[in-house]
Amino acid sequence: MHDRKRVLVTGGAGFLGSHLCERLLADGDDVLCADNFFTGTKDNIAALIGQPHFELLRHDVTFPLYVEVDEIYNLACPASPVHYQFDPVQTTKTSVHGAINMLGLAKRTRAKIFQASTSEVYGDPEVHPQTEDYRGNVNPIGPRACYDEGKRCAETLFFDYYRQHNLNIRVARIFNTYGPRMQPNDGRVVSNFILQALKGDAITLFGDGAQSRAFCYVDDLIDGFVRLMAAPDDVTGPVNLGNPVEFTIRALAEKVIELTGSKSAIETRPLPVDDPTQRCPDITLAKDRLDWQPSIELEDGLKKTITYFEGLI
Ligand code: NAD
Ligand code: UDP
Repeated sequence: MHDRKRVLVTGGAGFLGSHLCERLLADGDDVLCADNFFTGTKDNIAALIGQPHFELLRHDVTFPLYVEVDEIYNLACPASPVHYQFDPVQTTKTSVHGAINMLGLAKRTRAKIFQASTSEVYGDPEVHPQTEDYRGNVNPIGPRACYDEGKRCAETLFFDYYRQHNLNIRVARIFNTYGPRMQPNDGRVVSNFILQALKGDAITLFGDGAQSRAFCYVDDLIDGFVRLMAAPDDVTGPVNLGNPVEFTIRALAEKVIELTGSKSAIETRPLPVDDPTQRCPDITLAKDRLDWQPSIELEDGLKKTITYFEGLI
């Protein structure tokens, strides 16, 4: 018998996963973190290792896993373009085989299961801001497809297991999130710009910087995860989780320079293939059904993230 909820977090040693493990432990859960350390590190969860209700398992989700749990958060998957394009076949396998294995585990244990999906399912969107009923504009054969199509297929699997096997599913479409423990080498824009600014290197602006993103601070996002998992069973999602305040990438570069007091110059570089021109979540559904919306403004979140990266270098 157990008195605590037993929660599996796949990808738990990554950026989002480590914050989620921390939150679940603070909420009194028993946490099993499974990770193959492709992009995650033990450093991210160093403060958790040794805690009595935290357990770490080196495991690749493309292989089956036999454990007894009450809830599963499936986060395992490289998330930045640099990392998911390093071994694109493995990226698709992680999303698709990983989803099948975790859904199989949920079916056997009757665990509630959460999928970390992504705004990338909308591709380069023609609808703005993106609502959950928009079906997207994804290039199925481009360099981002291993990630985008892998995540789309994972959503398909979640909804087929829901319809066919009556599983209790939760699908979150996560928009750009930032904060402490982003990997310094993962090429994402917030970590790149902060590190470049702190080192006095040129800020690498891809294209003319007019493309937009909306950035959510990690603590806000994790709160959305926990609310979605705790919501009534008819709230399957997909539900957008992100900060609906949109910035151009050039404005982000200028804000990072201002907050770091850096002398770095902004230098332009070619825009990567299939880079979405705009992205911003419509979070009406999350507001209505989860009573959730982000509370941390970009400037405050950037300051915390800058402090983290200052500690790294
Ligand atoms: P991350 O790279 O820091 O974390 C991913 C984790 O998954 C890492 O710890 C990695 O080692 C692990 N992993 C990768 N392949 C695995 C495998 N085959 N088996 C077991 N573990 C494996 O990235 P993140 O930003 O924390 O993203 C977490 C999840 O959220 C991902 O599924 C990602 O697609 C999704 N997401 C993130 C964002 C964001 O802005 N951070 C946006 C949309 C979606
Ligand atoms: N970007 C940039 N310079 C960098 C890294 C990224 O201008 O050094 C741009 C990138 O082209 C994209 C945006 O910032 O338009 C967000 O990129 P990121 O890789 O963080 O996330 P995604 O494209 O997946 O939203």
